[in-house]
Amino acid sequence: MSASHYQLVIVGGGPAGLTAGLYAARARINTLLIEKTAVSGQVLVTERVDNYPGFADGVSGYELMEKMALHAERFGLQKKLAGIAEFALEGPEKRFSLENGETITADAVILCNGARPRKLNIPGEREFAGRGVSYCATCDGPFYRNQEIAVVGGGNTAIQEALHLTKFAQKITVIHRRSELRATKILQERAFAEEKIEFVWNTQVKAVQGGKSGVESLLLSGEGGAEQVLPVTGVFMFIGIQPNNELLPLEVLEHDQAGFLHTDEAMATALPGVFAAGDIRSKKFRQIVNAASDGAVAALSAGHYLEQHFPNTSDKSS
Ligand code: NAP
Repeated sequence: MSASHYQLVIVGGGPAGLTAGLYAARARINTLLIEKTAVSGQVLVTERVDNYPGFADGVSGYELMEKMALHAERFGLQKKLAGIAEFALEGPEKRFSLENGETITADAVILCNGARPRKLNIPGEREFAGRGVSYCATCDGPFYRNQEIAVVGGGNTAIQEALHLTKFAQKITVIHRRSELRATKILQERAFAEEKIEFVWNTQVKAVQGGKSGVESLLLSGEGGAEQVLPVTGVFMFIGIQPNNELLPLEVLEHDQAGFLHTDEAMATALPGVFAAGDIRSKKFRQIVNAASDGAVAALSAGHYLEQHFPNTSDKSS
């Protein structure tokens, strides 16, 4: 038996991956969680999580992830910090070639690769990335103390992060392409009541403009194509997410148009022994609580798969 063979590999250490790891470790499945960084997941960019059950006073995204990691580690979840360069998932043995040259194999895998912010792909967006264009209010908000900034988008992320940015900025203009927000009502109520937040409706951002010192303005296109220039020193883009599916064998894994993976209700993908959980799944609602739930279900399903297909390997050691 190879020294780097596991019963189960979990890819990704966000809420889905860590919950899968907790369940797998408690089921005494020899499991390795592979992640690029010590604490991870989209939730890290969330300053305040207000809707995770059990945290009545709210909790920071970072603290929640740290607690989830500690919880899984208490039951013996093994972790490896590494990038995966290649996935071979089609045969009975799943194979992961790591960027450091190592190879890991497993009998089953749970893909919890997650998602990342979508880009607007407009002129100036890439040029000013990190110099006024940001995708993370928690990371970059403090740079905009007493400044006038913009937030693009009308979903939960845009409104929640616009509210967070009121701690720093003097004025936040939320630019939304429709006249109605997609965000949940409680966030809408808070944003409408916030003096520092203004809304520009039915408007698209056409370009980010600036100079050597960074962003200076946005070129907006409103109703009827009327253009205007909005002077701001920073713009936060929150227009949705895209799946971290690069390197996955999408030709054999069923997925939706945007590349999110289809699973059945047991979190099984189209490939035997390959499960998916969390934001990488195609689903209507993306919440931390249902990412965690996906992870639990995926681990239980993976355990069932291992018992059926690899009944004599429960004592495999890494
Ligand atoms: P989202 O819900 O998909 O919202 C994206 C927003 O960006 C929408 O308002 C959309 O406009 C707008 N948009 C999309 N493409 C655009 C474009 N090309 N130009 C201009 N605007 C564009 O994405 P999200 O807010 O990142 O949330 C992702 C998931 O995480 C959701 O399931 C969300 O509920 C969840 N989440 C939950 C919480 C929470 O519960 N507190 C917090 C954060 C995120 P339209 O409305 O016109 O489509």
